[in-house]
Amino acid sequence: MTTSPALPKTNDLGFYEMRFESVGGLGANLAGQILAEALVLKQGLNGAHFSSYGSEKKGSPVKSYIRLCAPDREVRSNSPIERPHLLAIFHQCLLKTEGVTAGLFPDSIVLVNSTDPIDQVRYRARLVSGTLGVVDATGIAVEFNTRINAAMLGAVCRVAGFIDAAAVKDAIAGSFQSKYPKLVDANLKTFDRAYEKVQVKELAADARFAGAPAEPHVSYYHALGYANAPVGGIILNPGNTAHKDLSASRQGIFPLFHRDRCIDCGLCTQTCPDYVFVWEKGRDKRSQPAMVLTGPNLQYCKGCLKCVRICPVNALTEECEKPEFKYTADAQLWGPPDALITMSREGDPAKWAADEGNYWHRVS
Ligand code: SF4
Ligand code: SF4
Repeated sequence: MTTSPALPKTNDLGFYEMRFESVGGLGANLAGQILAEALVLKQGLNGAHFSSYGSEKKGSPVKSYIRLCAPDREVRSNSPIERPHLLAIFHQCLLKTEGVTAGLFPDSIVLVNSTDPIDQVRYRARLVSGTLGVVDATGIAVEFNTRINAAMLGAVCRVAGFIDAAAVKDAIAGSFQSKYPKLVDANLKTFDRAYEKVQVKELAADARFAGAPAEPHVSYYHALGYANAPVGGIILNPGNTAHKDLSASRQGIFPLFHRDRCIDCGLCTQTCPDYVFVWEKGRDKRSQPAMVLTGPNLQYCKGCLKCVRICPVNALTEECEKPEFKYTADAQLWGPPDALITMSREGDPAKWAADEGNYWHRVS
């Protein structure tokens, strides 16, 4: 065991606290567990890790907490972390969700998985000050065929400044070695790539964000008591029935359907846990009447990619959600109730960068 590192800052109780905001399936719980293991067992700090998740289902909200202190202190607090020194957001769409950036200190570190430029992320997160890290964890994970938790761990190590990357890599290897030994190397490469690629910026205080949504949460969450606790049983952030923008419940990855390759075998439909695939009456290759697949209705897809793995002819491929894919879902954005509109794009990556090749297609 190495000498335990000094924590860069602590709260009134002597804790350095981290919160991971995520979506079920991205591996935030495992990431927190691995990080805590590295910091406690390999770096000699004292600490605790725990997560909160609702239905334990891919696509549902997940929060993972890591609480650290000096080795001579005891961790006697088991409450959720409301004021994080380090906040890692595993999916940029979560920035739209109430309370995700709640409770930041003026000098907290925020890390966001995003492909957007760092200033744009700061603007969307409405960060008043602190340090911001941005990493394309989804893209890195797709490149190495891993989950984004290893990428986020690499970036967390880099932005935190006191975490020993070698200790975390040891813990990653230990975690995968017994059950999935073939995945060890890919996860370590994912970690390294994110460690190297994360962009970091110190944020000068910006008056534009004074009074921004993140700020009231500081006092709101910090001073909760019998007099001001919210009434139970009320959904403060109801679902978005107007825009049907459920992007925060997908994982930043989705199946792209290639009609020209599909043989209408139906395996994807049998495999999809959420009955996402849509069929209609049509003609098969011999022009006989048949049911044909029109593709997944991404409004209801959570990005688990089981369909991609099962398709025998590669008619479904794994894609990262990109800014131009903001509304990958068949989303009723405006117009009469049955006016569904789908955003799609042409298959030329050169055009995507120039923001060409996208078109709105009226489904009905
Ligand atoms: S599994 Fe593939 S080939 Fe079969 S119906 Fe689905 S998309 Fe088409
Ligand atoms: S369509 Fe594919 S990725 Fe989406 S929920 Fe169904 S199986 Fe998962």
